[in-house]
Amino acid sequence: MKITRLESMVLRIPYSSGGSDEASAWGGRRWETADALLVRVETDAGIVGWGEAFGYNVIPATKAILDEVVAPLVTGRDARAIEPLMLDAQQKLHIFGRGGPVIYALSGLDIALWDIAGKAAGLPVHRLLGGARHEELPCYASLIRYATPDGVAMNVDRALKAGFGAIKLHEIDHGCILAARGAAGPRVPIMLDVNCPWTLDEAQRQADMLAAMDPEWLEEPVWPPEDIDALAYLRSRTRVRLAAGENAATMMQFSQMLSAGAVDVLQPSPTKCGGISTLRQVFTLAGAANTRVVPHSFYDGPGFLAALHCAAAFQTTPLLEWRFFDLETPPLGPDMQPRNGRIRIPDGPGLGADPDPRVIEKYRTA
Ligand SMILES: [Mg+2]
Repeated sequence: MKITRLESMVLRIPYSSGGSDEASAWGGRRWETADALLVRVETDAGIVGWGEAFGYNVIPATKAILDEVVAPLVTGRDARAIEPLMLDAQQKLHIFGRGGPVIYALSGLDIALWDIAGKAAGLPVHRLLGGARHEELPCYASLIRYATPDGVAMNVDRALKAGFGAIKLHEIDHGCILAARGAAGPRVPIMLDVNCPWTLDEAQRQADMLAAMDPEWLEEPVWPPEDIDALAYLRSRTRVRLAAGENAATMMQFSQMLSAGAVDVLQPSPTKCGGISTLRQVFTLAGAANTRVVPHSFYDGPGFLAALHCAAAFQTTPLLEWRFFDLETPPLGPDMQPRNGRIRIPDGPGLGADPDPRVIEKYRTA
C-alpha cells in the first residue's frame, strides 16, 4: 500500500462566546482562535489517514516542512511499514533538528500512518497496540491561563460543574492559585503547570511555598526545559511531585529523563515527540522505570486521539489531559468530547474519528 499524497491543512477555530474573553498569551501572542495543523495521508488503496502536528505559533514552519520536505520524502513509500519509514525519515532529517518543527511534522505523519494501519486492519489503534485496558478514561480539565483570581475561580467552578474530577492550572500568580483551591475545595486534585519560568533556586523556593496547597503535581518548574539535572535535583529536594516531558522529543530524551530520575509524571506529547510510535516506546521505558505517564494532549484533533489510544492501551492509572475551553465547533465532531469528565475510547477502525469535513470546509485557512 503506497503513500500517494501527503497534504497539510491549517484549521483556525475561534473560541465560542464565554471562553474567550481572557484567553491567555503564550509564545508572545494573544490567542483568539485555536489553530491546528492536520496531516492527511492518502494511499493507493483508497485509505486515508489523519494526523496532527504540533500547532499554535509555529504552524507556518511545520507546515512548510510537511509540504516541502516530508511529502516528497514519503510519497511512493509503503504506508504499512511504519517503523522503517519513520526511522528512515528521522535519519535523513536528523541534521535539521531532533525536536521542534521537523519532529512535529514527522509526528503528524506517524499518527496518520497508525490511522491508516488501523483502517487497513479494520481495528482501532488501541487494538494494534495490544488492546485497551479501559473503556473510557477520566480527563482532567486543563485550563488556559486567566491571570486573575476571579477568572480562575469562575472557570474552576465551570469545569467542576461539567463533571471533571481534577483541574490543571496554567497560573504562576499565587493569588490565582489560591483562588482555584478556594473554588475547588480541599479534595479536588489540582495540578500546576507553570511552563518553565524559574531558575533552580527559584523553583525550589516556589515548590516549598506551593507545597502548602497540596498540588497533584508541579509541571515544568525549571528553565530551561531540557535541564534534566536541575529537575532531578529539585525532585530530590521537594515533596511536591514533578511532571515534565511535553518539550522532549524522540525516545532518547525520555530515556535520559527517566535515567536521571527527573520526574514523577512523564508527559510525552504525541504531536511533538514523534507520534504514536514514540509514545509507545516511552510507555514501555517508563513502565520499566516505574514512572507514571500522562501524555500532554493540549489539542483536540487526531493528536488527542493518538494520546487517547495509547493511554487506553498502556496506562495503569488512567488519566488524560483535556484542553478546557469552548470552541465554536469541535474538530472531531461532538461525539469525541468528554461527558461528565470522562471520554469514551473510540472503537472504530484506526483512530476512530476523522476530522469533520464540514469543520474543515468552514475553518480551513491554508
Ligand atoms: Mg504543560
